Amino acid sequence: MDRQQEFVLRTIEERDVRFVRLWFTDVVGTLKSVALAPAEVEGAFEEGLGFDGSSIEGLARIYESDMLLVPDPTTFQILPWRGEQEKTSRMFCDIRTSDRQPSAADPRNVLKRALAKAADLGFTCYTHPEAEFYLLESDEVGRDGEPVPVDRAGYFDHVPGGVAQDFRRTAVTMLESVGISVEFSHHEAGPGQNEIDLRYADALQTADNIMTFRTVVKEVALMSGTYATFMPKPFSEHPGSGMHTHFSLFEGDSNAFYEAGAQFQLSRTARQFMAGVLRHAPEFTAVTNQYVNSYKRLWGGGEAPSYLSWGHNNRSALIRIPLYKPEKGQAARLEYRGMDSAANPYLAYACILGAGLKGIEEGYDLPPAAEEDISALSSAERRVLGHDPLPSSLHDAIRAMEDSELVAEILGEQVFEHFLRNKREEWNEYRRKVTGWELERHLSVL
Ligand code: GLN
Ligand code: MG
Ligand code: MG
Ligand code: MG
Repeated sequence: MDRQQEFVLRTIEERDVRFVRLWFTDVVGTLKSVALAPAEVEGAFEEGLGFDGSSIEGLARIYESDMLLVPDPTTFQILPWRGEQEKTSRMFCDIRTSDRQPSAADPRNVLKRALAKAADLGFTCYTHPEAEFYLLESDEVGRDGEPVPVDRAGYFDHVPGGVAQDFRRTAVTMLESVGISVEFSHHEAGPGQNEIDLRYADALQTADNIMTFRTVVKEVALMSGTYATFMPKPFSEHPGSGMHTHFSLFEGDSNAFYEAGAQFQLSRTARQFMAGVLRHAPEFTAVTNQYVNSYKRLWGGGEAPSYLSWGHNNRSALIRIPLYKPEKGQAARLEYRGMDSAANPYLAYACILGAGLKGIEEGYDLPPAAEEDISALSSAERRVLGHDPLPSSLHDAIRAMEDSELVAEILGEQVFEHFLRNKREEWNEYRRKVTGWELERHLSVL
């Protein structure tokens, strides 16, 4: 029993915690949870808790389905929304095979492997996500066939007496109480759309934080009689919900992306990292944008990127170099704007980091920065400037991923195969579906 584990057991006893939830995620990033009685926690630390992995999407084949959940004591938190009477807590878990090896199919383990690779090259990876979502009246569509937002406000609007403001205050307070610091929160451009930005942390902690964040946001919405959705594009006419993420690599205490006096203060490491992400983005877009619906956001304007490009403070670019004061070199970072709010954060971060590290290892050259609004250019102009499109559908993204040695290596063969199988099924189901749009357009005319 190590010190962290002892601390957890002591806290459970002293605070009279009644339930300990063990959390993990499946391959598409759905949160899974099993509740343990306090008396079972010590055994779970020592032996792991057995479960049937074959019932979890992407985890195990039926003939090797016995798996173990081993709780990570550093992630122990008491959950604030369950009330004081019956205290409930949670820990994230690592998944192990029945012979106690880390499971290759565990998304958390995929990210840990990518971080270990970064560590081998001397880097720690920090991330901070800007998560957007819509707050709706309910999870049902209204009479016009569209979801019903809780307000009609827009970007940075202060809505007196608005639901969204109370909602954000409660959500931010709850996030802080489970150890997640929030940097900003504001109303976004769409009606009912909100954004909450989490403070930077190492990438594994950020991915855990995102899973917690989604749960908190959903719970707080339910408490206020509303419904929160992370669906990438719930409205045709309003912007989608992105999860822009800022990345930086540190070598010890110093930011490896910073170089005083260089163009945009970007070091060679930063340029090579960015070149790797840009070159491989089409191959991992099925992971960062994993649903049929994700591609409606990437093609729907609203400041979501559609082309491979980078720029300094350019909001049409896939990668943006944010402005910061030159004396704050530690803040040097790049913002990947492609990912949406419904991605599995463990797999998405592993892919982006892995692609960036590949750029560093192979010394990729970075194409010139885009200075113009890329979406306003003609397709001929874009071709000349080398701004190739991102995959424009889940189908295109699957095709690009199938051919990617890099993504297979980052995810590991098992996750790679399971993920692709899951996504092909989704695409095939969508493909045969006759939509309302087609009926509206054709039925009375053809
Ligand atoms: N909602 C936009 C997206 O989907 C981002 C808007 C913004 O934060 N500038 O990426
Ligand atoms: Mg933002
Ligand atoms: Mg935003
Ligand atoms: Mg942003």
